[in-house]
Amino acid sequence: MRIVVLKFGGTSVGTIKKIKKTAEIIANYKKKKYKVIVVSSAMSGVTNELIKKSSEISENFSSSEYDVLVSSGEQMACSLLAGRLIHKGFKARSWLSWQIPIITLGKHKNSRINEINKKKIIKYLKEGGTPIITGFQGINNESRITTIGRGGSDASAIMIAKFFKAERCIIYTDVEGIYTTDPNKFKKAKKIKIISYEEMLEMASLGAKVMQPVSIQDARLNRIDIEVKSSFIKKSGTLITKRSNIISNKIVTGISSTQNDSKVSLIGVRDKPGVAAAIFKPLSKNLINVDMVVQNISANGKETDLTFTIKAEDLNKTKKIIENNKNIRFRKLLLKKDVSKISIIGVGMITTPGVTFKMFQTLAKNRINIQVISTSEIKISVLIDKKNTKKALIALHKEFELGRTK
Ligand code: ASP
Ligand code: MG
Repeated sequence: MRIVVLKFGGTSVGTIKKIKKTAEIIANYKKKKYKVIVVSSAMSGVTNELIKKSSEISENFSSSEYDVLVSSGEQMACSLLAGRLIHKGFKARSWLSWQIPIITLGKHKNSRINEINKKKIIKYLKEGGTPIITGFQGINNESRITTIGRGGSDASAIMIAKFFKAERCIIYTDVEGIYTTDPNKFKKAKKIKIISYEEMLEMASLGAKVMQPVSIQDARLNRIDIEVKSSFIKKSGTLITKRSNIISNKIVTGISSTQNDSKVSLIGVRDKPGVAAAIFKPLSKNLINVDMVVQNISANGKETDLTFTIKAEDLNKTKKIIENNKNIRFRKLLLKKDVSKISIIGVGMITTPGVTFKMFQTLAKNRINIQVISTSEIKISVLIDKKNTKKALIALHKEFELGRTK
């Protein structure tokens, strides 16, 4: 059986008109003699509204009831979509996760899909039906409805593709694919034709918010090719696949930037074991997400400086936590808002020497000061003043020839 999984995001089913358009897309795959499994998210905005309602009922709204409530958006979208396909003469029906069932493990609000019972869906596909499955939700072994985290219908689609051994998993969304950098920030950004899971993970978690990072990790582990494309424009999108499928002459695949970062420096902390742990323990307890961390080597063997970045909204809280931390001593606390992290990402840099130098030189030529540097195998990140973000993006985009079509 040649199965294709089509996933539609909130914007693709955001209005009645768009649901009708989406039904056309599904119908086209049916004509190509594919067995089509559809996964849908809720109509855009619906999940947010439901969450708002829950918080108006109680600040501590029960998490099991939260899952029942917020998963209802998907039920609505799936029935509308199925209804439209039936109207067009197709055999279709909505499938809620518990009707299949899609079994999850873990806590409410943040479960993960562990198993999918294939029997009923396979039978339905063989009868020529098109199942429209609710993304984002599942059921646990206590028969309670669960959800798998915001943006989770991407992960639903990928797990469904895995269990049904789909030939393809296509994520339909409101953008044409993954771009070399955020096209809203830089018009000359180019659509990437093919990108590895690893690069996409870096792009996704660094700000290219097209797909939920967890879902890309699922795809990577299960070796599922994903195509990301637009519901509204008929053009090929971006293929996310394993590294060995990619032949590219580019060193850098994409550039990402963050917004609303802040930098925290502790000057003159004691240079002895346990100090960094003492600084970060209360931050992690307060769920403050620390990103880049650098510590200088100590010049005199006694004192050192430690710098890290956090989200700007956590700055005041972080300041208080550090000032009230009795387990650490330091001479000065420096806080800086309005910094931005720029990262160049590409598997090509593993085999190409001099990429770091090239990046630094480009920034230097543009008189952009680098405040913090961090690197991984396929990524180099620098922290700069936020006001230079666009200038840096443009310069690096040019230097690494990302505007050039392959
Ligand atoms: N509707 C859910 C959300 O808004 C799941 C999704 O969109 O993927 O988070
Ligand atoms: Mg989404």
